[in-house]
Amino acid sequence: MNCPICGKEVNRITYSSYDIGIEEEYEECSNCNYYYEYAYGSYAITFGKYYFGWTYRTSSNNKFFKKLNRQLKNSAHTYRQGHIRQFKHPEDFYTIHIYPENIKGEIWKVDR
Ligand SMILES: [Zn+2]
Repeated sequence: MNCPICGKEVNRITYSSYDIGIEEEYEECSNCNYYYEYAYGSYAITFGKYYFGWTYRTSSNNKFFKKLNRQLKNSAHTYRQGHIRQFKHPEDFYTIHIYPENIKGEIWKVDR
């Protein structure tokens, strides 16, 4: 699969068991730091300063997913415009955490 931000091939790792199927899945882009994680019913996607987190209980027509897709498109556009630095520093001062219960997001300070 290709990175939705920069288009490069992502590294994909999965762990599965015979009876349950895929239990953990990770996709990481070494070029722009896009990251997708699925583990035991919880999902997360991070890129740039954004963190989106949800669970298997989140309805697929939740507005959250519209917000996520719009932000992925916006960030891919930002990347193509050459603002690559924004994606190289996910540990920058703050991230915006967005959840189905709070699609406006919360700013989380990152300690260094
Ligand atoms: Zn990428």
